[in-house]
Amino acid sequence: MQSNLIAQNIKILQSEINTIAEKNVKLIAVSKRKPLAMIEQAFDLGINDFGENFAQELKEKAETSSKNITWHFIGPIQSNKIKDIAKYSDWVHSIEREKVAKKLNEHALMHNKIINSLIQVNIDSENSKSGVSLDALFELKDYILKNCENLNLRGLMFMPRFTLDKNEKDESLKKICSVISKFKNIYKDADTFSFGTTHDYQLSIKNGSNMIRVGEKIFGKRI
Ligand SMILES: *Cc1c(COP(=O)(O)O)cnc(C)c1O
Repeated sequence: MQSNLIAQNIKILQSEINTIAEKNVKLIAVSKRKPLAMIEQAFDLGINDFGENFAQELKEKAETSSKNITWHFIGPIQSNKIKDIAKYSDWVHSIEREKVAKKLNEHALMHNKIINSLIQVNIDSENSKSGVSLDALFELKDYILKNCENLNLRGLMFMPRFTLDKNEKDESLKKICSVISKFKNIYKDADTFSFGTTHDYQLSIKNGSNMIRVGEKIFGKRI
């Protein structure tokens, strides 16, 4: 995609965000399966935060780029990839198990860094989706706060059901709002709620997201 198209997409997104949002909303440009050249174009247009789903791809891009990019790991976490994820990520959105948190923390410690961390919640209890169940969420939060000094627990990440049915969508968002409010009540330091993609970022912002993860709307369709 042409640089001027990326520029145009970002401009549109940012002006929409400014119109809808009452608070600051962080835009994460999801760059999976897009070349580093595109990432750097977006960076030069003022986007600092990029999201990647695959550890190997993150590693290659982070090692190759000379820009001071803030990397977000947003994909499912395989145990044998945690080493690379810890090394290259500034944020990890997809923590869903104690074992993953423990290992991520150990590797963060080895690199003498603090990783901004989000717990991924499987809000619609979908078998196909990653994320901790609502029942296990608070236990995982307690575990991280107690045992993972190199993880700075900032909040929650959601990947709500993709649906065109308005009622289903509303249902999903209602559940998210209720989990956020419970979570904030119990954990006062929570300040980041990551949800909203190309298809639903506007609705997501209206429902309490302050970190959206947008790919195709910036970089064009993935093939
Ligand atoms: C791919 C992806 C996104 C971005 O999706 P788009 O439809 O390209 O905006 C956001 N979050 C996660 C976890 C993803 O895998």
